Amino acid sequence: MKNLVDRLRCRRTLTVEEYKQLLLCRDAEVTDYLHRQAREETFARFGNKIFIRGLIEITNRCRNNCYYCGIRKSNSRITRYELTQEEILECCREGYRLGFRTFVLQGGEMPDIKDEWMENIVACIRRSFPECAITLSLGEKSYGTYERFFRAGANRYLLRHETCNTQHYRKLHPADMSLAYRLQCLDWLKEIGYQVGTGIMVGSPYQNIHHLVEDILFIERFRPEMIGLGPFIPHHDTSFAAFAPGNAGLCLKLISIFRLMLPAALIPATTALATLAPDEREQGILAGANVVMPNLSPQKRRADYSLYDNKAFAGAEAAEGLRELKERLERIGYEVSGERGDYENGKRKV
Ligand code: SAM
Repeated sequence: MKNLVDRLRCRRTLTVEEYKQLLLCRDAEVTDYLHRQAREETFARFGNKIFIRGLIEITNRCRNNCYYCGIRKSNSRITRYELTQEEILECCREGYRLGFRTFVLQGGEMPDIKDEWMENIVACIRRSFPECAITLSLGEKSYGTYERFFRAGANRYLLRHETCNTQHYRKLHPADMSLAYRLQCLDWLKEIGYQVGTGIMVGSPYQNIHHLVEDILFIERFRPEMIGLGPFIPHHDTSFAAFAPGNAGLCLKLISIFRLMLPAALIPATTALATLAPDEREQGILAGANVVMPNLSPQKRRADYSLYDNKAFAGAEAAEGLRELKERLERIGYEVSGERGDYENGKRKV
């Protein structure tokens, strides 16, 4: 089985059957070998440097009803909020002071958000922090809207496809949402010039090995600059409350597979992974991840951005806990990078 790992590292691809074998393999020696090879690839490109992104959760209002998500429209048990422009700028100022050079503005799909409002915020951050990267993660929009945000100064966009199997997509989302439109959005984002991130929840309800291989093949074809993988974690106020969380080991394996497939990709050790167990963040890095996204949202709002139960937002998952993060990374031989961390040959920089 180690020869599959070697082949993936050498040719950057495997056959459907080979991907399946690797995902199903339970031999700890092979898994260690996979992580080690992925780690070597990461080290060859990025050394021991880990990029940090300050995550600002700008709103938990959402017009969608994704069955897995705690901020889904019909969850009436959370307190809804929307940060003001000044609050968002204050988060950026604080982040800048702490050493962040990328701000990620994430939120639900605000039902009545005005493009101008968002465009103004992006433009204002761009003017105030000219050397910083602005990443948006605001869900599905029109081509025109993505273009406006890009022109205003956004550089990157995160939009996980969640699954690229139509039947599986339907199990995770109600009928008014469409996989075809989500994939269309990803193509548009690329066309416009964003550095694009996509990805999946590992172990989402009804996901099987065939779906995972389809996702691997999609990412191989799409070649995103960023790949976000986190375990599904149930939220008590959703219809998926009783499902088991995704498996951290499988998540780590996928991180390694994507590192070997797309060596220059920016791959975070996600908050969902760190929520399963704090040292899973470090395991993610040892499996080939090279990005961490501490929470930079106002502290009083963090608990309301409850995508899943017990979401970590303190300690090393918090911007103000950067010292703890640095210590944890040092213990495994890594350092926080002070750079903004664009994709190599970064498409248009500011
Ligand atoms: N609205 C934007 C979008 O749809 O891309 C961004 C916000 S959305 C809440 C961000 C990501 O959270 C989703 O892409 C999904 O993968 C993740 N997420 C939501 N619920 C989750 C859960 N129960 N467990 C793990 N991840 C979850």
